[in-house]
Amino acid sequence: MDKARVGRGELRTPELRIPDEVLRIARRLEEAGYETWCVGGAIRDNLLGIPNADFDLATAAPPEVVRKLFRRTVPVGIEHGTVAVLDRNRQPHEVTTFRRDVVTDGRHAVVEFGASLEEDLARRDFTVNAIAYHPLRKEWRDPFGGREDLEAGLLRAVGDPDQRFREDYLRILRLLRFAARFGFKIDPATWEAARRNAGGLRLLSAERVRDEWFKGLESAERPSELVRLWRDVGAVPIWLPELGDASRDAVLDRFASRDPVLMTAYLSSDPAATLERLRCSNAAIDRGRRIGEHRGDWPDLASGASVRRWMSRVGSAVDDLLAIAAAEGREGAAELVAAVGEVRRSGAPLSVSDLAVNGRDLMQAGVPQGPEVGRMLRRLLDRVLEDPSANTREELLRMVREEYGKG
Ligand code: ATP
Ligand code: MG
Repeated sequence: MDKARVGRGELRTPELRIPDEVLRIARRLEEAGYETWCVGGAIRDNLLGIPNADFDLATAAPPEVVRKLFRRTVPVGIEHGTVAVLDRNRQPHEVTTFRRDVVTDGRHAVVEFGASLEEDLARRDFTVNAIAYHPLRKEWRDPFGGREDLEAGLLRAVGDPDQRFREDYLRILRLLRFAARFGFKIDPATWEAARRNAGGLRLLSAERVRDEWFKGLESAERPSELVRLWRDVGAVPIWLPELGDASRDAVLDRFASRDPVLMTAYLSSDPAATLERLRCSNAAIDRGRRIGEHRGDWPDLASGASVRRWMSRVGSAVDDLLAIAAAEGREGAAELVAAVGEVRRSGAPLSVSDLAVNGRDLMQAGVPQGPEVGRMLRRLLDRVLEDPSANTREELLRMVREEYGKG
């Protein structure tokens, strides 16, 4: 950070490099007579030295004017005054009309336009997110001391923290996400208010909570720190009651990839229930269920057949179980990864659908229609899991005929 203090609490702040397409949009709005500023996360990130070219614009222009001034726009959040302006490369840039809140109920806000930049900044959540930069005049507006808090690594609510969390309880989860992402401290008054108001998290929709939880796990310096904050603030009993104690949290920091479904499933004593509460996709819930079902299951590494049987049993959970084993530093994890790779390269059959024969073949060979067919297929699979080279039509039909004595 290239900043020096000048005078009382005043910060000289560097010029920001604003992308040309953003400048063009800002210039157009300004030339039409509407004050326009860069705001939000990109300002914060650039001041921290984190590349982020996704500058949001806040403008005095009403949404319908924004829509008229540009050829291609998308009303992405028009009721909140947000219009995406598509640039010459059809890349979207969010332009939001200055607004103030008129009604809030802890989850939604009804906003009013015709506000000033200062009012617009005042409705933002944290001081570090309430800094504005004028892209043409290169001026700063930072009425809440966001730059000083950035320098100090401090998250602080704009205004009265109790009131701000009651307006929108999601801000509590955003607070935890930013703290874990940047390794920032939380100002004591903001933290106490977050804890006091955590009960309001119940009011939020599962989708918004899930998005925050997942983004938090993905962006945290250490995911275990995000989990600690969720525990300490009181969010875990409400939204993640299956998490149990903190003894496994540290393992999250050793996962090779930041996969929030996997991490959530790992911590939960009932992954499917947790992912369902968070209204995850059916694919994610299924994946969690398999992880839960098979995580105690481990093959005998000395036996190729044992590894193949394990892969057959756990099915699509193989890679998740390997990732967990590696993160836990389980003995033999690397060997199992190698063994699984070898089985895959060999193309060894692992499921009934990989067999060289199907149910129809079995019936033609004399197996009576009905449950016997499935049972026989399973037995053939057992055989080829033991010895993959037995997976030929000839050999499998020979086994069937031996059993059913036809032909
Ligand atoms: P990131 O995009 O990296 O998650 P961000 O700060 O850009 O972080 P966004 O959700 O993109 O977050 O929101 C952009 C800006 O809008 C924020 O910086 C903040 O000023 C404001 N904002 C977003 N959500 C809220 C909220 N729930 N309450 C108040 N202000 C908010
Ligand atoms: Mg953003």
